[in-house]
Amino acid sequence: MSEYRIHGATGEWEVVIGLEVHAQVVSEAKLFSGAATAFGAEPNTQVALVDAAFPGMLPVPNEECLRQAVRTGMAINAEINAWSRFDRKNYFYADLPQGYQISQLYHPIVGEGAIEVDLEGGATKTIGIEHIHIEQDAGKLMHDQHPNFSYVDLNRTGVALMEIVSRPDMRSPEEAGAYVRKLRSILRYVGSCDGNMEQGSMRADVNVSVRKPGDKFGTRTETKNVNSVRFIMAVIEHEARRQVDLIEDGGAVVQETRLYDPDRGETRSLRSKEDAHDYRYFPDPDLLPVELSDAFLEECRASLPELPDAKRRRYEEALGLSTYNASVLTAEVETARWFEALLASPGKPDAQRAANWVTSELFGALNRLGRGIEESPVTPAQGGELLGLIADGTLSGTLAKQVFEIMLETGEDPGAIVEARGLKQTSDTGAIEAVIAEVFANNPNQLEQYRAGKEALFGFFVGQTMKAMQGKANPAVVNELLKKALG
Ligand code: ADP
Ligand code: MG
Repeated sequence: MSEYRIHGATGEWEVVIGLEVHAQVVSEAKLFSGAATAFGAEPNTQVALVDAAFPGMLPVPNEECLRQAVRTGMAINAEINAWSRFDRKNYFYADLPQGYQISQLYHPIVGEGAIEVDLEGGATKTIGIEHIHIEQDAGKLMHDQHPNFSYVDLNRTGVALMEIVSRPDMRSPEEAGAYVRKLRSILRYVGSCDGNMEQGSMRADVNVSVRKPGDKFGTRTETKNVNSVRFIMAVIEHEARRQVDLIEDGGAVVQETRLYDPDRGETRSLRSKEDAHDYRYFPDPDLLPVELSDAFLEECRASLPELPDAKRRRYEEALGLSTYNASVLTAEVETARWFEALLASPGKPDAQRAANWVTSELFGALNRLGRGIEESPVTPAQGGELLGLIADGTLSGTLAKQVFEIMLETGEDPGAIVEARGLKQTSDTGAIEAVIAEVFANNPNQLEQYRAGKEALFGFFVGQTMKAMQGKANPAVVNELLKKALG
């Protein structure tokens, strides 16, 4: 693969990227309170006294949030820290009434790990993870509800976040995009984050610097809260270009926090970057250190599902699927679930045929309908029944496509559709022979030409016979009978 480079007046530049991904933890309750976490509730209906920072309220850690972070760490082969601690990060923010965020600076719950990222052309690259720590999310300020006032919604205040910090290991927008997609896939398999970037449950701080290849790292900027893969890639491209131009014009990059404006496709400075010491971090005196027992860790490990890399390998090696099919079918957990339900359906369809059918017919239909596989109008059991009807010769390829279209429209079972509409394929040699005789009688010229040696007309007779039988004749039988009749 060719390396990604920015071309400047002074030659080629390399881009260095590190991502801090904030992933909202899937849990019923918040990190330190019993308030609900459901998305889209009426503003300020999911706020406990501790979230609103009433005097004397004390945080109580939610074990489920810790479990989710540990499971996520295990899924990226990270070191799990059986001893971790919460720290206060002090700052004023109108949507965080405490006046500090409870986070983990010195002793995060998950240490070093790695993610294998899939690049164009089957290449892979390992991206290091520095650590994952748990922290509280802030609420939401709304500036567009009233001409003179800003409003605050505290529903999100105190919801658990995992901050997944990568090493500065990425070197192009494509690698960063592939990293976020893979991370999202793993989180969704684990069930620790729903990965919904539009709703903000996953967002990234994008750190970018540039250097001449071989030099030491340059000064980075950090663009905050970027909430789609496309925007992350756009930020990197824009920021790298801006930094190269700046340096080549004799300027210097300042370490700062920037914001992305998707409408203009550019970043702008928000504030100069603070350092950890600016926040006066200290261990939260309201919370004891977290100690994880061996039994808890064992339970976390046992609860992990088969993960995308392992599943893809199994699809290739045990099921004999192509690399393409195996990776498409395992990229999203819902797709893998649907495909495995299809394989387990009563007819036990052949894995390779099933994979081809899902990636071509089913995906094509879902694309047209603009639906995800979890909203498929056809169930795995119905798909299995359809594949069974193809395998036993009841349906030709053409008929199967017709039946599938009707299934999509009506939701009916394929067997019932075949019965009710007489769409069965026929191998009845008597019926086919009668039609062939008819075709010959209607096309005397072509018959004469064929007999005079124009063998290319064979296909013409196949087509005429199939057409006369409305696509219901078994093509293999038609071929065989035609050969006999013409030979
Ligand atoms: P902070 O929490 O203050 O933003 P960290 O040291 O935790 O700082 O680093 C944040 C992110 O910045 C990490 O993802 C890391 O990979 C990335 N990073 C560090 N140095 C560079 C650099 N020179 N260029 C690009 N990214 C970098
Ligand atoms: Mg940061």
